[in-house]
Amino acid sequence: MQETLANVADLVAKRLDADVCSVYLREAQSESLLLSATIGLDPAAVRHVRLGVGDGLVGWVAKNGEALALERAREDARFRYFPETGEERFTSFLAAPLVVQGGTTGVLVIQTVDPRSFHQADVELMQTCAQLLAPVVVNAQLLALMSSSEDYRSTHFPPRTDISGLGGSLARAEKNVELTGIPTSRGVAIGPVHRFGAPVDLDRVEYRPKGSKAEERTDLLAALAEALGDIEETRDTVRVRFGPEFAAVFHAQIQILEDKGFVQNLEQALDESGDAFLALRSVLDSYRETFESIESEYFRERGADIIDVGQRIMEKLVGDGSEQSAMAPGSVVVVDQVLAGLFARLEIDKVAAIVAEHGGATSHGAIFARTLEIPAVTGVGGVMSTVRQGEPCIVDGSTGHIYLAPDETLTSFYQDAQHKYEVAVGHLDAMRGRPSETRDGKSITLSANVGLINDVRYAEKHGAEGIGLFRTELLALAHRGFPSQEEQEQLYRRVISQMNPRPVTIRTLDLGGDKGIPNVGESNEENPQLGLRSIRLTLENRRAFAVQLRAIFSASVTGHAKLLLPMISSVEELREVRALMAEVREGMTARGEEFDPDMEMGIMIEVPAAAIAADTLAAECDFFSIGTNDLTQYTLAVDRGNERVAHLYDGLHPAVITLIDSSVRAAQRADIPVSICGEMASNPLAVPILVGLGIGEFSVVPAAVPLVKEIVRALDTRETAQDAREALSMASAREVREIASRRLLESGLLDHPDIGDWLKDEIQ
Ligand code: PEP
Ligand code: MG
Repeated sequence: MQETLANVADLVAKRLDADVCSVYLREAQSESLLLSATIGLDPAAVRHVRLGVGDGLVGWVAKNGEALALERAREDARFRYFPETGEERFTSFLAAPLVVQGGTTGVLVIQTVDPRSFHQADVELMQTCAQLLAPVVVNAQLLALMSSSEDYRSTHFPPRTDISGLGGSLARAEKNVELTGIPTSRGVAIGPVHRFGAPVDLDRVEYRPKGSKAEERTDLLAALAEALGDIEETRDTVRVRFGPEFAAVFHAQIQILEDKGFVQNLEQALDESGDAFLALRSVLDSYRETFESIESEYFRERGADIIDVGQRIMEKLVGDGSEQSAMAPGSVVVVDQVLAGLFARLEIDKVAAIVAEHGGATSHGAIFARTLEIPAVTGVGGVMSTVRQGEPCIVDGSTGHIYLAPDETLTSFYQDAQHKYEVAVGHLDAMRGRPSETRDGKSITLSANVGLINDVRYAEKHGAEGIGLFRTELLALAHRGFPSQEEQEQLYRRVISQMNPRPVTIRTLDLGGDKGIPNVGESNEENPQLGLRSIRLTLENRRAFAVQLRAIFSASVTGHAKLLLPMISSVEELREVRALMAEVREGMTARGEEFDPDMEMGIMIEVPAAAIAADTLAAECDFFSIGTNDLTQYTLAVDRGNERVAHLYDGLHPAVITLIDSSVRAAQRADIPVSICGEMASNPLAVPILVGLGIGEFSVVPAAVPLVKEIVRALDTRETAQDAREALSMASAREVREIASRRLLESGLLDHPDIGDWLKDEIQ
């Protein structure tokens, strides 16, 4: 930790040409800051000078979470002198907070002997340094915490058991063993089970020490080096496949493996036991225990990294305890957890489906599975111990059902379902080049909703005419915090330039609610969906918000970008964002930075208030995008993530249709375009009604683009307008469904030889 901090100080002092660079860190669970590293001040003051948050200039920066630049620091009323540091020689002062997950964890300071008047560019450079260094410092803090844990010496080692005779038989007496989990990625797959990389079961490991400590030490260090090589390789593969933002997940793991404290602890434990396995196990156990006892949820979550790293070293040391048979094509991969790294290690082309014992539908892995269009079910309790390598299995990613050892009847039922799906997809994909217009010639724009750079490939594959919704929060979720401007800008530039000249609508961070990140926003809200989420959260974190706006503006020069604001509920909110946008633009202009001055700015209509007051909002923005996922949730007062009220969640409820209608009419009065980007836009029954209401653009998951196109092409706007009028006067969602079903029936689509049957299943 000391070395990391000293390196940080040295680097920043050189980069900013300063005489002093110091790092102050907030002490755990206390309100004081400790001078933790310095270049230029008296080294003896390190770990001695302590000041309260709010005390002196450094304390002010920590308290306010803002940078501070002073040409003559001693003349400032907030200045406080610490004789131990020998800082009387220094005149100018510039500091920026180290912010992690919205909280200030320390302060980075530079000082100069000669008076220096810092420019805005210096302040921003300092802020960027602080932003980039904050996670490094936090990791170092964590590792120091781990290394100082004394517990490992007293760890109890459970006795080992024999592993001979493991491995079950393929034949299972019982047929159609049903397991259920969370439906995570749609589609049906039938194939043999491949248990992948089951964690080494430490209680079953048969490890015989070599005899000499020196040999054990060599083996342990070799395992460490191999694990490091593997993780670096994984990081590189993930970077290429999924984009740099996800590769960042592996930096923390690499930092752990390269940490001297970690290696020293291993060596010390080896010295005591003379057994590489026991040494590794005891250190890992102690790290895990320490992590579990940490109060901060953010730090506790990071324990997963240590455990993942430990598992890899263990695999190298004792050999992977799981079955190592080659994976058969069309396998159902069964894993403990869908971690991001899994996709780099899997032979993707052979994977028919993924089933995971742990995790939910919003993990990175789940997102990857959906992106790659691999059916997946997660959170299947007990699946790892229930499945047998190679046994036949059916996975239904749409319902979350899994069947082991299916009998012939069940298999043929699912083969049928699978066949219908494949024929329909084949037919739909063949329509890629045809225009998306109704029978009477009205063009409907079909765009894709994406969240990863890799999704853009799928948007292309299915013929999307643009990106109607780019969800930027995935980058923040991958980072577990606000990403830096550089990272965001890189991602946005790639997406915009790949789609150019087609438009890309970038939505600002929509965190909170069901997309909470520990330590960003409130973690203990009673009603998170009604709380500090989305635009409210970003407006409370104005600096992070300004960083994102700058990244979007900067990237806008690479092609056709649009900006979209989520969850706007009042005109004041919209004005506040516009003022911030103006500030950001002014700053960029002053620095001569390029951006598209005409970039359109739209708002999401996803709160009933916005739909009701749509006229006022339409006057102050360039377009509307209706987010029916939230609009339905808030209109019907039904939590979109609560399975107990899921039967009440219905976008075809006449109340929701009425709000969509009033938004469309307001947009038409103000002459601005209106699109729809909630999941409802890909519901075959909703398409005729939405077209009838006058929606001109549908933005849907890439794979749904051809389906919506096929429906649009079978409609006539005069008929759908009539349908929509009728739907608006209906009393229930059931009646609206009847109107839409009738329209689909009359269009002939349900009798279509390729997609008819499949479509019927879809709309049930
Ligand atoms: C919506 O609410 O409809 C929407 C598209 O946003 P999200 O699903 O990301 O909340
Ligand atoms: Mg939403």
